[in-house]
Amino acid sequence: MLTTEKLIPSLILAAMSCAIGALFLALSGSAFAQDEPYAYACENCPANWENLAIDGNSCGGDNQSPIAFDASSTRGARSARLTLTYGTELVEPDMTLTNIEWGADASASSVRWNGEEYFFSQFHFHTTAEHVINGERSDLEMHFVNKTAEGAALVIGVSILVGAENGAFEPVTAALPGADLAVVDLRALLPGNLSAYAYTGSTTTPPCSANVEWRLLRNPVELSQAQIDAIRNELWAINDGFDNNRPIQNREGRRVSTTGKANKP
Ligand SMILES: [Zn+2]
Repeated sequence: MLTTEKLIPSLILAAMSCAIGALFLALSGSAFAQDEPYAYACENCPANWENLAIDGNSCGGDNQSPIAFDASSTRGARSARLTLTYGTELVEPDMTLTNIEWGADASASSVRWNGEEYFFSQFHFHTTAEHVINGERSDLEMHFVNKTAEGAALVIGVSILVGAENGAFEPVTAALPGADLAVVDLRALLPGNLSAYAYTGSTTTPPCSANVEWRLLRNPVELSQAQIDAIRNELWAINDGFDNNRPIQNREGRRVSTTGKANKP
């Protein structure tokens, strides 16, 4: 039983701990005041990402990307096919720590899958490719990030191989360096056949948020060597000469399935 003598110091202590708690909250905010910068060069390289003070850091968690797999080990069509409605968008480049993201506000371009509509958010490139399919890693991998209103992500990955000059990419490469606003026909950046490998993973940069629906198109697109070089040189310049790809992550028994041909609007 508390006597008055004991109760008063207890109340003072309780009030003090509340005040300290409030002070701590005020100092720390709801997250880190500023996330630690990540990079592809150590100290802040991918091997250390999980140790960086970054809000919501999931880089050491489960279901991470990218992964390596062989087409022969994939399962038949599990996923409903994608319904893609990509059109022409005015995209604005946004420099991140390690990349250029060409993004569109209030995009009308979207992907429907499994009853959800994911709106185009931005595209960007990695050199060399992040996903390894049948032991092959292409020079460039392009990511189209699409999000639902609630923030769920579906990323379409496209392998880029050396070939003929690709006019659809002209507005993108013409804006380099400096990465100006560009009017881009998003559908024209993709191959005709949109059949894909499908698995559930994460973003490949911090905070490595999981539950990203990945759709890696089975067909590549071709760019000329000069177009590939223009993009790679820009990425290398941003990353002090380092490639901007995250190492292969553990598949942890995850299944990779194939989707049928998507529509061609
Ligand atoms: Zn990416």
